[in-house]
Amino acid sequence: MTLKEKGEKIFHLLDTHSSDKIEFLEFRSPFELLISVILSAQTTDISVNRVTPLLFETYPTALDLSLGNLELVEKIIHSTGFYKNKARNIIGASKSLVENFNSIVPFDMDSLLTIPGIGRKSANVIIGRFSHPGAIIVDTHFMRVVHRLGLVSKKDPYTIEMEIKELIEEKKQYRFSMIVNLHGRRVCFSRTPSCKTCILSHLCDYLMVTGISTNG
Ligand code: SF4
Repeated sequence: MTLKEKGEKIFHLLDTHSSDKIEFLEFRSPFELLISVILSAQTTDISVNRVTPLLFETYPTALDLSLGNLELVEKIIHSTGFYKNKARNIIGASKSLVENFNSIVPFDMDSLLTIPGIGRKSANVIIGRFSHPGAIIVDTHFMRVVHRLGLVSKKDPYTIEMEIKELIEEKKQYRFSMIVNLHGRRVCFSRTPSCKTCILSHLCDYLMVTGISTNG
């Protein structure tokens, strides 16, 4: 079996067993997703979803948040952690949208990367959700799972993104990212992956390397 065939099989199995709902940040617009993605660094989607209703009620637009009061913003997002950096970043990102993009979130990688708090991973979240499905989102869960499965050879996020792009059809890439990520959160845990109940066990290199048996 080629790596491409293996990637296709993994996509098919995870796709069949996943619901259509693959996004867990709550947002109503590209602006809200961009801000939520910045807030989601080092925390859970649930904790972001807890603070964003008040944040977007207080500051509904990029212009509003660009003029936001730093202390108040810090207070609203405090529970997401790293709140000082995040508050500066979401105000800075809003300023960048207003000053450079006419308050409209851009959908191309180069422009997104100029926005404070937005790296390649976050940019791909926005591109994949709103622009086109050719977007691979490489976060810690995704990296762990594709590595264990033997789909990639390197460990740095950019190379992983490029290697996966070669394996998975462009129209499937965004969904592939999300369902692999979910598999990492729900089955392929960092410390003790649930290999015995994993639907991908027959395709996984980790079991061969570690010698773990899924029998019994
Ligand atoms: S078999 Fe184990 S290591 Fe491989 S993907 Fe499944 S849970 Fe992860």
